[in-house]
Amino acid sequence: MQVQAQSARKRLRRELKTINAMIAIFCRDQHASLGGLCAECSALSGYAEQRLDHCIFAEDKPTCAKCPVHCYKPAAREQVRAVMRYAGPRMLYRRPLLAIFHMLEGRKEPPAHPRRKITPLG
Ligand SMILES: [Zn+2]
Repeated sequence: MQVQAQSARKRLRRELKTINAMIAIFCRDQHASLGGLCAECSALSGYAEQRLDHCIFAEDKPTCAKCPVHCYKPAAREQVRAVMRYAGPRMLYRRPLLAIFHMLEGRKEPPAHPRRKITPLG
């Protein structure tokens, strides 16, 4: 159980790293931000982290594009969709490892019955 929770953390951390990498690419190119995210994008990044922390699928989480649960509020969903549309194809060049993990995980189907919410470690 402990091991499972840890692998769930790892899985969700990587998802967060992926979304943050995409936000960074998007922000730098679209908002001309230098050395950090603009206010809007750092708010989106914080929001994504908060949603991932509450993801009911835990280690079974599909990539967000495939997820049957739309847990983002509409405005944030629009923002994140724009980020993914722009940065998704660019990830392969800029962050190939993350992109490959993301593609592999994107092939998993979401489970019919989500596991119970994981308890955050500390
Ligand atoms: Zn930005």
